[in-house]
Amino acid sequence: VAKAAGRNTYRFFDASMQADALERMRLLGKLHNAIERKELRLHYQPQLDLRSGAVIGAEALIRWQQPELGLVSPARFIPLAEDSGLIVPIGAWVLREACRQAAAWQEAGLPPIVVAVNLSVVQFRHGDLVRTVADALAESGLDPALLELELTESILIGDVDAVSQAVTRLKALGLRLSIDDFGTGYSNLAYLKRFAFDKLKIDQSFVRDMDSNADSCALVRAIVQMAHGLGLGTIAEGVERGELVEQLRRLNCDEAQGYHFGRPMPPEEFADYLARARSRAAA
Ligand code: C2E
Ligand code: MG
Ligand code: MG
Ligand code: MG
Repeated sequence: VAKAAGRNTYRFFDASMQADALERMRLLGKLHNAIERKELRLHYQPQLDLRSGAVIGAEALIRWQQPELGLVSPARFIPLAEDSGLIVPIGAWVLREACRQAAAWQEAGLPPIVVAVNLSVVQFRHGDLVRTVADALAESGLDPALLELELTESILIGDVDAVSQAVTRLKALGLRLSIDDFGTGYSNLAYLKRFAFDKLKIDQSFVRDMDSNADSCALVRAIVQMAHGLGLGTIAEGVERGELVEQLRRLNCDEAQGYHFGRPMPPEEFADYLARARSRAAA
C-alpha cells in the first residue's frame, strides 16, 4: 500500500510539473510574437532627489498586454524570456523604446530626467549589448548622460575579466550604471572597488520596514555610508509610506522611488506627472 501511495504521489507531482511546463510553453509561444504585435509597453516610475524633492529620473518597467490573458507580470514572463533567449530582442526593444521616449520628453521641453533601463544578465553576456545600447542612443539622439542601466549582482558571477570589459565599454558610451536590488545577491564587495558603477539601488526588502525594524534600518544606514565612502550614489526602492522619507533623509540617502511618490505609469501620464512636479517646484 505504501509503495502504491508513493507511486501515486510521484505521479501527482509529475502531472503538475508537466502542466506547469505546458503552461510555460504556451506563454512562451505567445511571447514570441509580442513585439511584432505591439503587445509590449513601458511604464515609467518616478525617482526623486531626497534633498530637493525634484523628479530626477524614471525607471522604465516592461508591461505585456496579452489579448487573451490580460496584463502579464514581468515576474512571470521575464524569467521565460531569459531561459529562451527571447530577452535579447525584447531587451533591445526596451532600450530603443526608453531612449526614444526620453528624447521625446526632452524635445517636448520637459525637465531633463535620467531614464533607467533594467538589463538582464543574459543580455549582459550577449556579445551585442554594447552595440545595441550605442544604436539606441544614436537612433534616438538621447544624451548618453540621461541613460542609466540597472544591472544586478548576478552579472558578477563568472568571468570577471569579461564583466570588467563590458562595464568599461558601456561606461565609455557616457551612460551611468547602477546595481539593482543591492544587498540581495552576490556578497563579494570587492567588485564595488573594481568596477565603475555609479549608484546602488537599496533593495525594497530593507527599505519597506526600516521604520519598525532596527536591523533593516542598520542595513540601509550601512549601505549608504559604504556607497558614499566609495563615491557612489544611493537610491531607496519600494518607498511606500511618507514615514520612510524623513528617515531616509536622516540617513543621507540621495534618492528614492516607490508608490509613495508614484506608481509605474504609462508615458502620457508620466509626462503630466513631470509637468505638475515642475510647476510645484516653481511655485
Ligand atoms: P525591479 O527592477 O527591482 O523593479 C522594481 C519593482 O518594484 C517593479 O515591479 C515596481 O513596479 C515595483 N515597485 C516600485 N515601487 C514599489 C513600492 O513602493 N512597493 C512595492 N511593493 N513595489 C514597488 P515590476 O514592474 O513588476 O517589475 C518586476 C521586475 O521585473 C523588476 O524589478 C525587474 O527585475 C524586472 N523587469 C521589469 N522590466 C524589465 C525590463 O524591461 N527588462 C528586464 N530585464 N527586467 C525587467
Ligand atoms: Mg530595476
Ligand atoms: Mg529593484
Ligand atoms: Mg528586482
